[in-house]
Amino acid sequence: MLELLEAALPAPARGVFTTRAGGVSLPPWEALNLARHVDDAHAKVMHNRELLSDQLGVDALVFGKQVHGAGVRVVKGASNKTARGLDDTDGLVTTVPGLGLVMLGADCLPVLLAADGVVGAAHVGRLGLVKGVLTEVVRVMREQGSGDPGGIVATIGPGICSHCYEVPASLAGEVEKAVPGARSTTRQGSTSVDLVKGARSQLTAEGVAVTTVGGCTLEQPDRFFSYRRDGLTGRHGGVVWLA
Ligand SMILES: [Zn+2]
Repeated sequence: MLELLEAALPAPARGVFTTRAGGVSLPPWEALNLARHVDDAHAKVMHNRELLSDQLGVDALVFGKQVHGAGVRVVKGASNKTARGLDDTDGLVTTVPGLGLVMLGADCLPVLLAADGVVGAAHVGRLGLVKGVLTEVVRVMREQGSGDPGGIVATIGPGICSHCYEVPASLAGEVEKAVPGARSTTRQGSTSVDLVKGARSQLTAEGVAVTTVGGCTLEQPDRFFSYRRDGLTGRHGGVVWLA
């Protein structure tokens, strides 16, 4: 069995965040690596995705080729292309039941969103915050949603914490300018970015109710992948779908 962290989303929407536990990949990708672009054996990644899909009971998993941008795609069905990853996509939205939208991370935040009849997923790192991918996902969800234009709820997944995510002062300044309050400091007192605080602030500004699952990816090597910690490693992810 895979170890999955449940997102607090209203039925019929469901969301989970994966961990490293339960997959078949070998070091340094062990075990539940979901990403194809990190040099892991293709067959192992596909096996991991199948294990996940089976445990969730979804019809298909849909991926984006994440580029730290603000590109959002509306997905109407599954295809070879959605399995390979839709180009330039850091946000996915669907109204189709059974399609599991996946956003991968290994320090960046997977964020899962749901409203009446529509779900969305986003990949949010420092650049995603600055470019406003969450705001864009919320806009597209409202366009696609059939019901109440408000009423969107979101769960922020595991990511690198503000005590660990050291960045040069100039970069922290850029983030602070785009999202006031997102600049922070590490345990050593150097400048950092608080991804969770930034994401929460952007979502709250849109009237979205936010919960978090917590967990610092860099500080929990047995549980999460961390690019900052390990370089060559796998990716865990967030999955959201309409059951
Ligand atoms: Zn940390």
